[in-house]
Amino acid sequence: MIEFFGDPWPSGICDEGRQVTTPINDDCELCGEGICDQDQGSFMFGLDGQKKPVHRECSLRSVMGGIGHWNNHVAWCIDRHDPDGGYSYRESALMVWDLIHELGFNAEYSTRPFDQIWRTCL
Ligand SMILES: [Zn+2]
Repeated sequence: MIEFFGDPWPSGICDEGRQVTTPINDDCELCGEGICDQDQGSFMFGLDGQKKPVHRECSLRSVMGGIGHWNNHVAWCIDRHDPDGGYSYRESALMVWDLIHELGFNAEYSTRPFDQIWRTCL
């Protein structure tokens, strides 16, 4: 059973999963920052087999790439090897979350050879 924490948001995770107590002060496995009481997210399994909390925004960023990737793939991903565009992983994840929810998945980006681009940038 998939588990999530925080207020439910529109997603398959929350439709099908089970809400559990927010793991306040545990570190997000992706950004390394502590989970706060207002945060929302789910869990992934670390290399040690332990279940680790991840912010929902960080989960999305881990799949979609960082804000630098979205703003200027060549400059940030290719030239500087920093897909987060100079921001922290968490900051970048929050910006990508806003960007995706503003543009939607059918925005102009979807006309690019999408999976060829982002797979190289994670
Ligand atoms: Zn995080």
